[in-house]
Amino acid sequence: MTELIDLRSKTLEEIEAIVIELGEKKFRGKQLFNWVHKGTEKFNDMNNIPKNFKKKLEEVSILKNMDILEVLRSKIDGTRKYLMILNDNNVIESVLMKYKHGNTICVSTQVGCKMGCGFCASTVDGVVRNLRAGEILGQVLAVQNDIGERISNVVLMGSGEPLDNYDEVLKFLSIINHPLGLNISMRNITLSTCGIVPKIIDLAEKKLQITLAISLHASNDEIRNKFMPINKVYNINEILEACKKYIKNTNRRITFEYALIKGVNDKTEHALELAKKLKDILCHVNLIPLNEVNESAFETSKESNIKEFKKILDGERIHVTVRRELGSDIDAACGQLRKNYLKREHEQ
Ligand code: SF4
Repeated sequence: MTELIDLRSKTLEEIEAIVIELGEKKFRGKQLFNWVHKGTEKFNDMNNIPKNFKKKLEEVSILKNMDILEVLRSKIDGTRKYLMILNDNNVIESVLMKYKHGNTICVSTQVGCKMGCGFCASTVDGVVRNLRAGEILGQVLAVQNDIGERISNVVLMGSGEPLDNYDEVLKFLSIINHPLGLNISMRNITLSTCGIVPKIIDLAEKKLQITLAISLHASNDEIRNKFMPINKVYNINEILEACKKYIKNTNRRITFEYALIKGVNDKTEHALELAKKLKDILCHVNLIPLNEVNESAFETSKESNIKEFKKILDGERIHVTVRRELGSDIDAACGQLRKNYLKREHEQ
């Protein structure tokens, strides 16, 4: 049996080619693309598409590529954590965060992750498969449909390493940015990576206006090697050199994510060492109180340590903020919801 076409994974040009192949006029491609990106889930709802063409489409393609299995809603700040089931029964997570400036979604780019970061639940069982561009987009459409509001910002910071699924992630960026699609500006998109240096350099050459976020979490290689295996392949200096290239090509400020782990990376000497390394780089440091997960013994730093760490970076003239904790009353640690679901399924 030939596989059905996932229309959400197709560019406008690809949809136009499909339409022509099915014996229709090219302009139907724009209409179809438009419906797909409205989040339409049934061909029947497309009221400007002829009936017989809708029937043909139904035979060869799909619109909806996931269902919402579970939603956890924070009573404190409106954060929603979604567990989605894909058409092949794999499950992924997405998080909706409500800010004054609009709705932001954190999307997954892979089922699981193979990067092995020591503080992360997403990687415990490795990677199952890459998501298609349309399955990354599908998370945005499913959440928009659920809340009945527009999503204005996207962060690729859920399960998976986006640069380990490079081609589909780039395709997703071009599709979501399309004026006839959701038309989300590149400047409203943040891509977070643990530091796959060749791909950062490649991305720099594309000169996209997205924000690049680096999960740094350590001020030297010795510490980073302990809980981020990728550091043994690309060390901190190599990452920072790639970041400089990215800034030079795009003029965009880089975000460095730094999760503060008690007794591991949260001391005065670490703050000073970090400040020294980032001194000449156009950047912003995002300090994150670690989200503790059952699978790891790491604990979050004391509030006083977090404050002190920030004060030192401030004093060294590094642009720094402490990330506000969202959804603290729901289980919001990355990968945790999926992990619990798989455990429940296994026990049944
Ligand atoms: S933090 Fe990101 S890159 Fe690291 S294991 Fe988790 S999902 Fe993968």
